[in-house]
Amino acid sequence: MHIDIHRHSDTSLSNQIYFSIIDHIQSGLLQQGEKLPTVRDLAKQLNVSLVTAAKAYTRLKDDGYLTTVQGKGTFVDEQQEQAETPVPSSTSFDWQLSIPDYLPRSQFAQYHYVEEAINLSSSMIDPGLLPNRYLEKEMQHVLARHPQIMSKYGEIQGDLQLRQVIQSFLEKLDVPSTPENILVTSGSQQGLDLVARTFIGPDDVVVMEAPTYPGAIDVFMGRGARIITVPVDHEGMNMKQLQSICDKYKPKLIYTIPTFHSPTGASMSMKRRKQLLLLAQSIDCLIVEDDPYRELYFEKKPPAPIKSLDHDGHVIYLRGLSKTLAPGCRIGIITASGSIFNRLLAAKANNDLGSPLLTQKAILPFLTSKKMIDHTKKLRTALKVRRDLMMDVLTKHAPTDVTWQIPQGGLNLWLSFPSWVDTRALLHEARKQQITFLPGSVCYPGEPKQNYIRLSFSYVNEKALTEGVEKLCGIFQQALSTPQNQKQSLFF
Ligand code: PMP
Repeated sequence: MHIDIHRHSDTSLSNQIYFSIIDHIQSGLLQQGEKLPTVRDLAKQLNVSLVTAAKAYTRLKDDGYLTTVQGKGTFVDEQQEQAETPVPSSTSFDWQLSIPDYLPRSQFAQYHYVEEAINLSSSMIDPGLLPNRYLEKEMQHVLARHPQIMSKYGEIQGDLQLRQVIQSFLEKLDVPSTPENILVTSGSQQGLDLVARTFIGPDDVVVMEAPTYPGAIDVFMGRGARIITVPVDHEGMNMKQLQSICDKYKPKLIYTIPTFHSPTGASMSMKRRKQLLLLAQSIDCLIVEDDPYRELYFEKKPPAPIKSLDHDGHVIYLRGLSKTLAPGCRIGIITASGSIFNRLLAAKANNDLGSPLLTQKAILPFLTSKKMIDHTKKLRTALKVRRDLMMDVLTKHAPTDVTWQIPQGGLNLWLSFPSWVDTRALLHEARKQQITFLPGSVCYPGEPKQNYIRLSFSYVNEKALTEGVEKLCGIFQQALSTPQNQKQSLFF
């Protein structure tokens, strides 16, 4: 089990352990019934005092996350409402948690799969809005036309026809590319991982927006990077702060989601895009531009990608198809130039020798026909309806001190609470009612801000969305009306 301890943090060591174990439980990395190390072993592993470790465990037990069985040990018991479920006795796997890992934090991946939940946590599209039937038929056609497709490796770089189609898409965005400098990846998550494993090692400085996409934090942290954060406002990264960070730390890489940023929904202005590129050029630093939401605009088209301004190869551009077409196909692309691209291609070869050909071939006819254009238009309309619905329900039912910025595109709404609220406690309540959301704390590298929530309006239908947000507002109301003297204990 990996618990990061920040000795100079304002948060006490016992609280850091407490929150980290809650994150592990809520994300599913620690399962109900799993046996935890003893207080003594935990203290030794983390190099903290027995009192500190014991204090964290006591609080976790008081709050119903852990339970101790006399003579057997301490176990995860997250589901207070299922307290009658017997805690399994120790198993032969108990030794496993003593093996430290390099998973710096938990990605909250588990929430994407919670059965029967009103899922407001996943930045994913409602499957009902995606062309499943069409793709199913295309899969069958591909198999019929190329019966040996499953018995061959494809090109490591990805199917040539697909790269040609992608090139014509990129051309429309003024992103310079040829099929030779496009790499097909298994989603842009793999793209991020390839970038990190190719260019980032222990103590390399990586600059990230705060908040940002949790999956990227874990990838860079997992490589041992030193992460420095820049706040974002409605126009994207704060350039003044970025400038002074660059002066002081000389970062090797800047990761950004400039268009409909996740989780805040903000888009970086063209002025700042230009400033960012100039800055990177001045210190020879890489920019990773992660651009999965570009087509999902609700009012006007977003500014052109930073990559379209890049003439000397500072920008690595990532584009996933999961947010518009088919997450199950696991297709994304990277485009970069010169030796940066060649090294990423080598990393792809080391990693998996190429992405599966079947899905690459199956999406081709859709991408090349007018269907893709019509589908994207419909998707934008449907998502805009859901965004507006979510904001309507919140406007009617949320406490007045819960606020948000209107996202002009993307899949998420970023809610801000008074600073004393810890939204992880709200999540605990929400899950009792089968509702999930993403607590904002997981979107911060390092010291988390705990008074935010990311609500995704894209995954559940309008009925479930209304029901889920109304119920959530009830939970918010109750939490925010807690008398001042009880707030401390309710929300840590
Ligand atoms: N980047 C961002 C900003 C994301 O939100 C996600 C998925 N949630 C990814 C990358 C990875 O997506 P995929 O691998 O499905 O393309």
